[in-house]
Amino acid sequence: RLKDGRALAQDVWSIFNAANLPSDCINLGQGYMNFAPPTWVTEAAESALNTVVANHYSHPKGRIRLREAISKFYGPTLGRTLDTENEILVTSGANEGQYSVFVAFLEQGDEVIMFEPYFDQYLPSVTFNGGKPVYVPLHPNKTKLHPTSNDWAIDFEELRRAVTPRTKMIIVNTPHNPVGKVFTRDELEKIAAIAEEFNLLVMSDEVYDCLVFDNKEHVRIATLPGMWDRTVTVGSAGKAFAATGWRVGWLIGPPSIIGPTLAATTRIVFCSNSPLQEAAAAGLEQATERGFFEKQLAEYAERREVLCNAFERLGMKYTLPEGSYFVLLDISEVDIPDDYPFPASLDGRGRDFRACWFIAMEVGVSSIPVSEFYCEEHCSIGESFARFAFCKDLETLKAAGERLQNLK
Ligand code: GLN
Repeated sequence: RLKDGRALAQDVWSIFNAANLPSDCINLGQGYMNFAPPTWVTEAAESALNTVVANHYSHPKGRIRLREAISKFYGPTLGRTLDTENEILVTSGANEGQYSVFVAFLEQGDEVIMFEPYFDQYLPSVTFNGGKPVYVPLHPNKTKLHPTSNDWAIDFEELRRAVTPRTKMIIVNTPHNPVGKVFTRDELEKIAAIAEEFNLLVMSDEVYDCLVFDNKEHVRIATLPGMWDRTVTVGSAGKAFAATGWRVGWLIGPPSIIGPTLAATTRIVFCSNSPLQEAAAAGLEQATERGFFEKQLAEYAERREVLCNAFERLGMKYTLPEGSYFVLLDISEVDIPDDYPFPASLDGRGRDFRACWFIAMEVGVSSIPVSEFYCEEHCSIGESFARFAFCKDLETLKAAGERLQNLK
């Protein structure tokens, strides 16, 4: 089952793990925060730990308090009343939820279309379950010095040509990791039309939905006409409440998708982390009243500005993200000495792996090489980019920005 070379290779997150880098290296690599979740959320976690029943198995669908909170929070954004019994499933992080969808729906040889670059977990999650990834490129803008994520364009003829009689599903990821692209309504309508025409399922990974900048509209493809019945929408407490290690995520969709996925997740993990589900519920219950997501977004907008300003000062080409907390920097001009002592874990990997390692060791800022988000055949496109995460406090980002000036 695990024949795919890429799926078996060491994952980028453990190669560029803070543990492998000098302790004073500023970590803008794997996307997690260096600040705590809000205290009113961690207090809810503490209180759940002190409640006997919250320390035990939850229903495999998820704790009812969280399912109700998801229903109240997401219902209006999806334009419908969500049935907590059949249309919501709490999972052990968004990743396990998506994996469970593949377990439930993929037959050997089924094709899954994903836009490339794609979040790296999709590939093994599809191939481990007998599926075949099919890649449709987001085309970077080669001429602008500071393209925005929206300049990474979809060729809809390419998308149409990628569909075959074996196509089962399209993965949409908006806001997109690693590009930061916020798919426009027009783009989503075109994707939806293709999904309808060829009767495809859509997995819409929207874990960065609370991070959409510049008053751009976050459109949920599930809300487009006819799409609810074929779409599963993916969300994450980790991204929403700065708690990526909690592994609490959720899926929202019609009973025809949630039902089989529940059967899969029940056999994989049985249920997700109980006490932290209570805390995530408190987060969603209180977020609106506290104006939490608006405040958090403003903080992230400032972080994005600090990092992008540093790239601006450097005069290097980067993509301004309209969503998520990642910036792609074009590193194709960074000189890397051939005789640099690179670790064996980089053998056979793209130039960007060496560039990111070199930058981490010599400049003291870590990032993630973007060829990891491309299939083996298309690696060379990703080799031009390093992904920097700005889910860090301002002081850290300012210090990283200073260090990065040494790339000049
Ligand atoms: N979503 C995180 C990122 O892109 C990483 C998740 C993971 O480590 N698998 O940085």
